[in-house]
Amino acid sequence: MTTELVNIALKKAERSRIEEVDFNNLPFGKHFSDHMFVADFVDGQWQNLQVVPFDSFTLSPALSSLHYGQSIFEGMKAYKNEAGEVLMFRPLENWKRMNVSAERMCMATIPEEVFMGGLEALLRVDADWVPNTPDSSLYIRPYMFATDVFLGVAPSKTYRFCIFTCPVGAYYTKPPKLKVETEYIRSAPGGVGYAKCAGNYAGSMYPTMLAQKAGYDQIMWTDGVEHKYIEESGTMNIMFVIDGKLVTPATSDSILKGVTRDSIIQAVRSWGIDVEERKVSIQEVIEGIENGNLTEAFGAGTAVVVSPYSLIGFEGKDYMLSEIPKEDSLANRIFNYLTDVRTGRVEDTFGWMYKI
Ligand SMILES: *Cc1c(COP(=O)(O)O)cnc(C)c1O
Repeated sequence: MTTELVNIALKKAERSRIEEVDFNNLPFGKHFSDHMFVADFVDGQWQNLQVVPFDSFTLSPALSSLHYGQSIFEGMKAYKNEAGEVLMFRPLENWKRMNVSAERMCMATIPEEVFMGGLEALLRVDADWVPNTPDSSLYIRPYMFATDVFLGVAPSKTYRFCIFTCPVGAYYTKPPKLKVETEYIRSAPGGVGYAKCAGNYAGSMYPTMLAQKAGYDQIMWTDGVEHKYIEESGTMNIMFVIDGKLVTPATSDSILKGVTRDSIIQAVRSWGIDVEERKVSIQEVIEGIENGNLTEAFGAGTAVVVSPYSLIGFEGKDYMLSEIPKEDSLANRIFNYLTDVRTGRVEDTFGWMYKI
């Protein structure tokens, strides 16, 4: 419906690369579909909207985003239902959040028809790339970066918006071990933690590397003021089950507002389970593990949906979460529900799915 509002040129790849991909063995983020969507913001307008073969860009060494980091992205997924139709999960939420990030980074915003028109045009030409194998999906990466060729520290006047996609498979891994980080921070009040901007990820790599050297897999970020309250885990939102309730840190300007987080809260509330969005202290979590009231801890994000944790390390001591059978866990119920909604096995009561 939105595509009719914008003019998108199509240049098709001469030959599809799809035969080169083993859809039963899909590593994350390594196979790129045949096409990409590109648009440029020039003279105050989005123009030159096109779907073209996935290929390299030619960039000036003085490209401002490479120096000063006006660069933002989104991550979302499309699925195939049993009838073979392609559906995206809550794409308008990603469009809105991309503009929240753009505003914080002082970049051009993207009109709905450009974002949605680009997505739809791209997914139509590359519909064959949307996997229908169990637990697989098409990961979609919209992103935007400054393109002025200029070395002054000032907002760029020009931007490129691009979308490309990757078929991705099931994300099987053993439960990651989390280290509570009390020295480095991901974000702080007044900062850019709520924006999906490239620099946030660069800043998290060094502390994560240190945690991995110490035998952990991921970091549990604490607040940037007191290191007392839990914010996120790795690049995911974090959730706990305490006394049978779902408890998750309330969002703020130092926490990224996940679409997965929001969807889980809506679903779990609809099942009659209490959800608390509030401050969660490390002390509460450690005590909860010790006295058995805290039964689950898991990350929530588009890439993995939910990622249950087995162990939390805090001030040199490791706290094991007691193992509950997977079938009895809330994380597993959430995972199955979201997977079923996305593939059309249960009714989409919240109106989350967007058909291409
Ligand atoms: C993207 C992201 C999330 C999860 O957001 P979703 O919309 O659920 O994928 C959480 N935290 C951070 C820091 C992120 O970058």
